[in-house]
Amino acid sequence: MPPKAPITQDVMTIPRKLPEGKVNLVGLTRDALRAALIEHGTPEKQAKMRTGQIWQWIYQWGVRDFAEMTNLAKAYRAQLAEHFVIEIPEVVTRQVSEDGTRKYLCRIAGGHEVEVVYIPEDDRGTLCISSQVGCTLTCSFCHTGTQKLVRNLTAAEIVGQVMMARDDLEEWPTPGAPKDETRLLSNIVLMGMGEPLYNFDNVRDAMKIAMDPEGISLSRRRITLSTSGVVPEIARTAEEIGCLLAISFHATTDETRDMLVPINKRWNIEELLQALASYPKVSNSERITFEYVMLDGVNDSDADAHRLIEHIKRHNIPAKINLIPFNEWPGAPYKRSSNNRIRAFANIIYQAGYASPIRKTRGEDIMAACGQLKSATERARKSRKQIEAEAGLNREV
Ligand code: SAH
Ligand code: SF4
Repeated sequence: MPPKAPITQDVMTIPRKLPEGKVNLVGLTRDALRAALIEHGTPEKQAKMRTGQIWQWIYQWGVRDFAEMTNLAKAYRAQLAEHFVIEIPEVVTRQVSEDGTRKYLCRIAGGHEVEVVYIPEDDRGTLCISSQVGCTLTCSFCHTGTQKLVRNLTAAEIVGQVMMARDDLEEWPTPGAPKDETRLLSNIVLMGMGEPLYNFDNVRDAMKIAMDPEGISLSRRRITLSTSGVVPEIARTAEEIGCLLAISFHATTDETRDMLVPINKRWNIEELLQALASYPKVSNSERITFEYVMLDGVNDSDADAHRLIEHIKRHNIPAKINLIPFNEWPGAPYKRSSNNRIRAFANIIYQAGYASPIRKTRGEDIMAACGQLKSATERARKSRKQIEAEAGLNREV
């Protein structure tokens, strides 16, 4: 069978137009940064060293102004400022939930907005970042899915969300700063707006920067990418990023998954499971997280729980199953399963030998919970009827 082409990958990233044609250094890989320096007058022989120095200022110390880069000659700093900027998304609003969750609305080029959520816990602090404005996919239970894809984020805008949160948490390290475990921002999840595997290169470059030991320096085991199941990009994620993987599984039959996660019509459950089976070996990661949103009367029966286990066992996938109580949003065509139902479902999975944590709903009062993200400026909501029609089986994906 010829390989299936991904659905809509023709979405261009529109590079940010900067004042006076200046280049933003944020988001450039080390090689690209070096090339940019050379292009704008840094002698080739010095370029490697200068790249390392500037890199550290930007990603280790959080400096945005070339004048502060005190180990560079004054004239060179001025030269840099003439050609470059160090720019990250601008925070428009910041809301803090009763439970300490913070939601930021960030403005990016073109006046678009993305939401970023910080979730503090006892032993970690997780930043949930976005990879696209909107989403091309139309999962019928997801608020973001009701918003058309506006554009892919650039690598600068993706890693910039992490830098923005570090600004807000005032966590740019001082010498001898704590390692991952004790940091306020210790983990990243790509679970905000958008499908990260439809913006692969920018997500990869941004996460490589976040992992770079001479900068933000987060271990790849503290970064989790969540995908709805873009099968051809799963092996690349293992090879080129190597972070942990979460999969929006949500249903145990193709019939139901076609309805909830329409990309299933392109790559069905069996194809998806095959791609997942080889992921841990290639990426050297421990387990894949199966995300499963609990929808009342739709996907939450005992039979579903048994089928879910059977799928995972048949393919011998090291897995944990993260049960997500459905977060309602205005016009959502589903209801959350009852607590008893969720517990019974979790128990079947647990008895079969798999971890089955129930995700705590965080930041609900500020609409920061999973699947509730949708920027205020793009709130042209589809009607419930429209959503249901689009979720129907006869819809072409
Ligand atoms: N596009 C990616 C990542 C963003 S969504 C993906 O689909 O995996 C992050 C997680 O939130 C996914 O598992 C998604 O299915 C889930 N989600 C979306 N809407 C939700 C809702 N209303 N309630 C609970 N979880 C939701
Ligand atoms: Fe897009 Fe993920 Fe929402 Fe589906 S669940 S519409 S892939 S953001």
